[in-house]
Amino acid sequence: MPDDPILPIDDPLLSQPSEPVDAIDENIRQLARDMFAVMDRERGAGLAAVQIGKPLRVVVIDMPDATARRHRFVMVNPTITSASDEAVVGEEGCLSMPGYTIPVPRHSAVKVRYRDLDGKEHHLRATGPLAVCVQHEVDHTNGVLFFDRVSRLRRQRARQYFRKVRHQHEAASAQS
Ligand code: ZN
Repeated sequence: MPDDPILPIDDPLLSQPSEPVDAIDENIRQLARDMFAVMDRERGAGLAAVQIGKPLRVVVIDMPDATARRHRFVMVNPTITSASDEAVVGEEGCLSMPGYTIPVPRHSAVKVRYRDLDGKEHHLRATGPLAVCVQHEVDHTNGVLFFDRVSRLRRQRARQYFRKVRHQHEAASAQS
């Protein structure tokens, strides 16, 4: 359902680890289709199932790697199995907190193990923007948010910003 709303960043569900997927069945395939539709609607680069209120370890991604090759795929039960020592800091946003970015430190490359929708296991070495996106989305499946990776001050500022924007938003929709 492309109409699925995305949970706001302060929703308690987003701070809880998602459940592993036992069986990759038609429900999971439909969930992935819905997630692609929602991600594309919001012009996002990645989405975790928990963000549309389904706390399962399923992620969709549409992002280029360091060589500008585009990767559009589904990860079921993704696990990061190794990470480079080298770190990168880039401006990062989240579909659960639209319009706000903060610099987040990440590993410049990671290896991620996951299953595709046919149940086949993959080991992907991700670099560039794809590596950052993989880390952001795998974090979501573990109940970790992008601002959990920054200083407490930045996190507080992000939360304050979000509360303010939400308040304005609610006030505006109450008037209309
Ligand atoms: Zn996010």
